[in-house]
Amino acid sequence: MAGEPQADCLFCKIVAGDVPATLVHETETTVAFRDINPQAPTHVLVIPRAHYADAAALAGADPAVAADIVRAAGLVAEQEGATDSGYRIVFNTGAGAGQTVFHAHAHVLAGRGLNWPPG
Ligand code: C5P
Repeated sequence: MAGEPQADCLFCKIVAGDVPATLVHETETTVAFRDINPQAPTHVLVIPRAHYADAAALAGADPAVAADIVRAAGLVAEQEGATDSGYRIVFNTGAGAGQTVFHAHAHVLAGRGLNWPPG
């Protein structure tokens, strides 16, 4: 069923506490943790507790939780002191765009210059 935990999903395992992660923020619907391979001084992943393959699938099935992800990303940025300097929220969507974990997640990047266009 849509949103149900998937046995083979790494991020579902993090939500369940079966795989360790450094949590920095939690809500009823979201979990945020430090990326294991940080690409900036602040690199946090914000994920829904429910399993959806990507951000578009999440927004289609449960737009309120998609909004929760963006709200949590802003709160994480504030917590990290990045509100004034600026931060980037990225949803890699599809393998061609660099998505490697197929459980929706927002990257929150901050703490260094962020070029545009991105790589
Ligand atoms: O957008 P993409 O799917 O590539 O992002 C997945 C992210 O999950 C990567 O940045 C990777 O470093 C991170 N990751 C993690 N902890 C794990 C496995 C992957 O933070 N145990």
